[in-house]
Amino acid sequence: MYDIEIKNLSVNYDSVIALKDINLKVKHKEFLGIIGPNGGGKSTLLKVLLGLLKPSKGSISLNTNKPLGYVPQYSHFDSEFPIKVKDVILMGKLSQEMFFHRYSDKEMKKVREIMDAFGLLKYQNRQIGQLSGGQIQKVMIARALIMEPDILLLDEPTASLDSNAKSEIYKILKMINKEKTIIIVSHDLEVISSYIESVACLNKTLHYHGDNNELNKETLEKTYGCPVELIAHGSTPHRVLNRHKEEKND
Ligand code: ADP
Ligand code: MG
Repeated sequence: MYDIEIKNLSVNYDSVIALKDINLKVKHKEFLGIIGPNGGGKSTLLKVLLGLLKPSKGSISLNTNKPLGYVPQYSHFDSEFPIKVKDVILMGKLSQEMFFHRYSDKEMKKVREIMDAFGLLKYQNRQIGQLSGGQIQKVMIARALIMEPDILLLDEPTASLDSNAKSEIYKILKMINKEKTIIIVSHDLEVISSYIESVACLNKTLHYHGDNNELNKETLEKTYGCPVELIAHGSTPHRVLNRHKEEKND
């Protein structure tokens, strides 16, 4: 059973073809990384999944009765932006419900649990703009989780973060992935981290690589249209993955 099935999907912006004949099936609790160059259609694909854009052709079926969780590309807050961390997280609810909704004890408890899990409790009353980039991203992920989605979409969540902050975000995503399906899009090959179980390349058309062992330099170069350096901790120039749990040591 798939959480997402995309069939022959095309999306145009007037005369610009952003996505062409995309087919993709995403399994329940899959952790999929979609990589491709800027302008390759990554944000467009997430927006069409969210129902913010209409396909020109094709279909999308979602096997969930909850709204999708979404962390948009790049969140910047002015350092004086007068909203507290916990209120930013609660705003994930506001978009769904009436504006003057009072939060229940249950909702407040949920926010505390998420803040606790993400190490944000001590910042809960701080203004959002006074957090680091990595902390802001954690808040944005917490905000996307407050509606308890089955599927979480993230648009370049680690862009412009340093490597420590990046790996913290991946640790959090790995934890979330125990319960939820995750799709992350990025122009950055760093996304093919060992946390991610399957990879697709997107540059107007999409190529799914499943277990990303088969992802190689040629495929990536075709996607990016330029030479791509792959870092590998092995003898061959491809990505070396962690062993699957059931595989024996040799
Ligand atoms: P990515 O997220 O991979 O950088 P996008 O999905 O943002 O790519 O963009 C894909 C293509 O669609 C690009 O050619 C971009 O210029 C075009 N595009 C994106 N948004 C719009 C828009 N609102 N109007 C017209 N063209 C757009
Ligand atoms: Mg984008």
